Amino acid sequence: MKSKSMRFRWFSNLKKWVVNNLCCVVKKKNIKRHRCKDLESSVVDKSCDLTAIDLSTITSADPPFSSHADLETEMSKVKLDDLNIVTPLGFGGFGRVMLVQVNCYSKETYALKIINKNHIVAIGEQARVLNERDIMTKMRSDFIVRLHKTFKDDDHLYMLMEPCLGGELFTLLSEGKNLSHTAAKFYTACIAEAFSFMHSKGIVHRDLKPENVLLDSKGYAKLIDFGMAKKLKRGKKTRTICGSPNYIAPEIILKEGHGTAADIWSLGVLVFAMLTGRSLFKVKQDNGMHTRNNILKGINDFVFPNEIQEIAEDFIRRLCRNDPDERLTAQKISKHGWFNEFRWEDLRDRTMEPPFIPKVESSADTRNFACERYRKEADYPRIDDAISWDPDF
Ligand code: ATP
Ligand code: MG
Repeated sequence: MKSKSMRFRWFSNLKKWVVNNLCCVVKKKNIKRHRCKDLESSVVDKSCDLTAIDLSTITSADPPFSSHADLETEMSKVKLDDLNIVTPLGFGGFGRVMLVQVNCYSKETYALKIINKNHIVAIGEQARVLNERDIMTKMRSDFIVRLHKTFKDDDHLYMLMEPCLGGELFTLLSEGKNLSHTAAKFYTACIAEAFSFMHSKGIVHRDLKPENVLLDSKGYAKLIDFGMAKKLKRGKKTRTICGSPNYIAPEIILKEGHGTAADIWSLGVLVFAMLTGRSLFKVKQDNGMHTRNNILKGINDFVFPNEIQEIAEDFIRRLCRNDPDERLTAQKISKHGWFNEFRWEDLRDRTMEPPFIPKVESSADTRNFACERYRKEADYPRIDDAISWDPDF
């Protein structure tokens, strides 16, 4: 009799324990699901709730996976619900980029670009977003930010990318600062490697500027933002006007049709900016017309400042020839005299010491990003068409 009642108590305790634990698991899952929504609904400082995730578990800024195969296996398991926002990284015209963790306990962090579908439909930029995703999935270079996976829900598209915690190249150049020849050469070589890969696949980036070059935690440069990139048909050119006003090539302005040589022009402008801290064609307090005219005039009569060595001047002139067919190609950049004694193999193996090693103490350390406040997403009215144009995400 006694043993029967004991057994009954034991079973009822067990039942209570199972029910309690199940509730706990369901509750935890719901908390996780609503974390993103909660974050959206509160405008908070970086120092507030966004750091509620236990960052003490995150210590290493090294690449977390030993091989691409490991990473791909890991990525195939990741679901949108598993992602937790750590802190914002940047805001662009098309989306917000957040540093995220796959779960609260892992050291790995990623950059998640969040794109509001209603906003994209309202501004008619669906093709740009689909194009960016298509092109990024084809990119396999150590000098281009890797897109790991995409997700979607009713209102958003998500792109989960490799994080670059060293910050934008732009911050090294802001306020008229210039770089040493060694540093400029290193970043130019990283971008030339990125272009070599893209151009060999017939893809033109069309938006090279210091804001679209990020440094990883080791100090190597990587290209981002493929919203304006385009895959060219074999032997064909494209005519859409796009690019950033100071970096745009003359053939784009003239709508003559442009190809991969347009990127090489922008690289020439960037090399000049790195070496002098100034913009090659930009005219101060200009509504854009004078800069545009300067670009069309070209570089032939331009007098270079003394701080630029002759060999570097020759390099920039060869990148910025008015005739796109006369410009160096990405593959030929390594042969130019400015790169004499530059060890390209060491760069490709990532054994070359970068000129500047950013301070990054953990994979959640975002000190190199100026994004101080979490910006709430604007209220975009729901558009029914926003649901169906994104089958590939
Ligand atoms: P844009 O208006 O420049 O076209 P966009 O909406 O296409 O912007 P991106 O340029 O891709 O967005 O990203 C916006 C900002 O987010 C970048 O300038 C950079 O500061 C940050 N960012 C983007 N990708 C990453 C990354 N992989 N790692 C770290 N930060 C990133
Ligand atoms: Mg950008």
